[in-house]
Amino acid sequence: MSDVIQLLPDAIANQIAAGEVVQRPASVVKELLENAIDAGGTLISIVVKDSGKGLVQVIDNGRGMSATDTRMCFERHATSKIRQTEDIYNIHTLGFRGEALASIAAVAQVELITRREEDEIATRIVVEGSEFKRTEPTTGPVGTNICVKNLFYNIPARRNFLKSNSVEVRHIMDEFYRVVLARPDLGFRFFQSDKLVYDLLAGSLPTRISDLFTSEYATQLLPCEEETDHVRVTGLVGKPEFHKRTRGEQFFFVNKRYIKSSYLHHAVMSAYEAMLPEGSFPFYTLFLEVDPQHIDVNVHPTKTEIKFSDERTIYAIVRAAVKRSLGKNLVSPVFDEENHFAIFSNTEPSQPEEKTTTTIPSRLNQKEYQALPSAEITRRANLEHWESLYRSGDEKSHFDFPKDPAEESKENTSPVTLQSVVNRTSERGEMFLESEQKAASDSPFQIHHTYIAVHVKSGLMLVDQQAAHERILFEQYSLALEKKSAVSQQSLFPQTIQVSSTDLALLQELDEEIRAMGFVFTIVGDRTLVVQGVPPDVKTGTEQEVLEGIIEQYKSNQERLTLSKRDNMARSIARRMAMKAGQRLSEAEMRALIDRLFGCIQPDYAPDGRKTTYVLELGKIATFFTNT
Ligand code: ADP
Ligand code: MG
Repeated sequence: MSDVIQLLPDAIANQIAAGEVVQRPASVVKELLENAIDAGGTLISIVVKDSGKGLVQVIDNGRGMSATDTRMCFERHATSKIRQTEDIYNIHTLGFRGEALASIAAVAQVELITRREEDEIATRIVVEGSEFKRTEPTTGPVGTNICVKNLFYNIPARRNFLKSNSVEVRHIMDEFYRVVLARPDLGFRFFQSDKLVYDLLAGSLPTRISDLFTSEYATQLLPCEEETDHVRVTGLVGKPEFHKRTRGEQFFFVNKRYIKSSYLHHAVMSAYEAMLPEGSFPFYTLFLEVDPQHIDVNVHPTKTEIKFSDERTIYAIVRAAVKRSLGKNLVSPVFDEENHFAIFSNTEPSQPEEKTTTTIPSRLNQKEYQALPSAEITRRANLEHWESLYRSGDEKSHFDFPKDPAEESKENTSPVTLQSVVNRTSERGEMFLESEQKAASDSPFQIHHTYIAVHVKSGLMLVDQQAAHERILFEQYSLALEKKSAVSQQSLFPQTIQVSSTDLALLQELDEEIRAMGFVFTIVGDRTLVVQGVPPDVKTGTEQEVLEGIIEQYKSNQERLTLSKRDNMARSIARRMAMKAGQRLSEAEMRALIDRLFGCIQPDYAPDGRKTTYVLELGKIATFFTNT
């Protein structure tokens, strides 16, 4: 029998390769836009007809191609972007495989006109199904104009496989959004059939976002910035209340290339932890700049996946960056009159210690990174905002806030005294102890024993007392759980408690967490335990009720939410032990509550995403009384 193996003709090889690169019209859009950007275009137009199946045309004012290159660019593995193996590790362009044009030309009818600045005449080339039909000199502006017509005209099976027009258009828009968000510094025009749908001028990211989405976005985003030796993170993240029920407005760019990463998405989501309702997603557009040596984009031909050499560090940095941005920005727009909702300028008062340049050794794990002083910085900043906003009083609080378990165990003091609470509460400002001015109008007051109203510079602030207390307890116990630094109040008369066997199993499973919060107990029978100690917040006699309540809450959270053990535990205890609406508070208690709230890292939201405070602006109040 004769030999049977043969090399495939180029046209077939290209068609097979095209299966990888060109799945649908949107793939053509992506590849052509990327080529236009790589060619240095600053104004790029795209025309789409018949949802891209009829025509995808991209026109750029980039560097163009020579007559020879015009032919070369359709060869497989023909690229001007890398030359040797090492270049793969130092990629600064979007393309580098030299596959796109060859693949596209294998499955469509392509016409390309291009001219370089140094050439007087342009070149026109026509390729259909990998076959060169025509090359000729022509006239044309500097840059490249490429038309891809009748995609899959020669592969009916693929053409039939395309989805409905609306689905294909949506894919095209997705690609378009990714590219134009990655490059707000370039101008883009998008024509659908002959209609100009987007005319995006080169500018800043915030402008690009409002041009692309709606102008409402401009007021809903917070700047995010963090720089380390390793990576620079910049971009905008949505305020927690600006969440959506559907995904699709989350964008990551690494070195200006759009990437998908569920790992980094998780990093962002965890920064929003306890601020978003379950099943909702925040908006974000985040740019990571990393030395190309530390990434490998060579994972998949369509290149939306990426590998970092040190993924965990990147995760920690992204999470910290977003956390910090949410922490410091959420408070300031409300309180800072000058920057009143001036979202896009940095709302942070300039303080050298808060500059977010942190040097991170390359092998720092997430936990170590979190231990960096950023939380403390945020907390201080929040307190400071609060202080500048609201200053009065000389009363001592007798509100029975326990001390932070973590701190207390450090200090190793005996039971919480009133004074120690007050001292701790107003950590730095002693705002309630020493402030000179005290006007009656500064006194907070309760509305229906549910909300606390207090004067602030811009109007009247309302605090939901229950939500605020939940936030305070949540952060306090999160810290205790993390540091495993329980503070326990020993019971004089240990209580014997009966629990169901399922609850007992859960208690055993959560043994470590429950102890970390300050409960001390021994299991004495198959349904009985003796509680010898409880967190200081728990009143004597209510041990059973509280413990059962926490377990109940924990189980209900478990059903509805996906939370880590610790997070769930901290939420449960905060929920159960927080004061409720209807509780009467003294003035000092109100002050202490507000003060503690603004000592939190994230004072604006209860752990389940409810708002804790609302500011009724003077201007708004005035509108109530204006004739219309
Ligand atoms: P890659 O982008 O991976 O290099 P392509 O097949 O997309 O591969 O393009 C092949 C080559 O054609 C590019 O390397 C570039 O030199 C040239 N090219 C493609 N599009 C343009 C354009 N719009 N302007 C100038 N040159 C281009
Ligand atoms: Mg390319």
